[in-house]
Amino acid sequence: MSQLRKDILTGEWVIFASNRRRKPYHFDMKKTPKKVNDNKDCPFCPGNEDKTPDEIYQNGADGKWNLRLFRNLYPAVDTDSFEKCNEDFYYSEAGIGIHEVLVDTPDHNGDPSQFSEEHMYNVLKVLCYRFTAIEKEEFVKYVQIFKNNGPEAGASIDHSHWQIMGVSVVPLAQEKTARNIKEYRSKKGSCIICDMINYEIKNKTRIVAENQSFVAFVPYAAKLSFELWVVSKRHISSFCKMTDDDLKELSVILKQLLKKVTELREGICYNICFEDSPKGRADEDFHWYMRILPRIGAPAGFEFATGSYINPLLPEAAAEKYRNNDDWSK
Ligand SMILES: [Zn+2]
Ligand SMILES: [Zn+2]
Repeated sequence: MSQLRKDILTGEWVIFASNRRRKPYHFDMKKTPKKVNDNKDCPFCPGNEDKTPDEIYQNGADGKWNLRLFRNLYPAVDTDSFEKCNEDFYYSEAGIGIHEVLVDTPDHNGDPSQFSEEHMYNVLKVLCYRFTAIEKEEFVKYVQIFKNNGPEAGASIDHSHWQIMGVSVVPLAQEKTARNIKEYRSKKGSCIICDMINYEIKNKTRIVAENQSFVAFVPYAAKLSFELWVVSKRHISSFCKMTDDDLKELSVILKQLLKKVTELREGICYNICFEDSPKGRADEDFHWYMRILPRIGAPAGFEFATGSYINPLLPEAAAEKYRNNDDWSK
């Protein structure tokens, strides 16, 4: 059972999911974070399928697959969560939703930067298939695809995986982005993200990688030092409106970028967040993009207080280091 409560001062949603207190944790944080379990009791390893809910998708028999998707055993939101608790001027919503896990490698120590391009493409295809199915649910207003890679990025299980959440409210960040995209279009008649990538490609200083369909750059106002945005050059409103060729190109650039990220520091943790349109809103106006967020340094007091980040590295310098594979700490 979970509940969504709205912060009436900021408009942000908080998910209360008491069942997640029972979640296992695979890292020893007292030392430098490192993996503490082996694959014997890892619920995400082949052969241990009975430790997770039944598969929604699996490309092989038990013990013999290389992609497996199932409902999160400790969901932040669920279809039977109808707990609601409005108090006076406070506002809440039932924490109804869908929360799934995609295990993207059968190898307990598998690293996405080492995946073949074909495997990365298959991962993206499965994410796309579930995104489309989850978005069709009437109660779902926004679908978030994300990856927490490593303990500093919030992962509790070390075996590589992705998560997909369909939630019944539109988070404030996506609400604001959709509004800004719409306003820009009504003033200028064009897509702010198309304009942004055209500018970045011309300007070059923040570009990290590029192929036929995608461009990757450190954004002008990057919140984290080595934050990367991966954006399709063609205006594509949603992740799942990409063609197979687009997904192939995306898998190539994603693999290239993850390799660069893992070279920043040994054992670096990172998040990947897909930024999509709130369902039924701004629809064709939105322009899908992906954020890769290497975790060097953590948000602290100022960031929590203001929502504004202090970034010690200018995006132009970060992009140059990525391009040259420089030692970033110099
Ligand atoms: Zn495992
Ligand atoms: Zn666009």
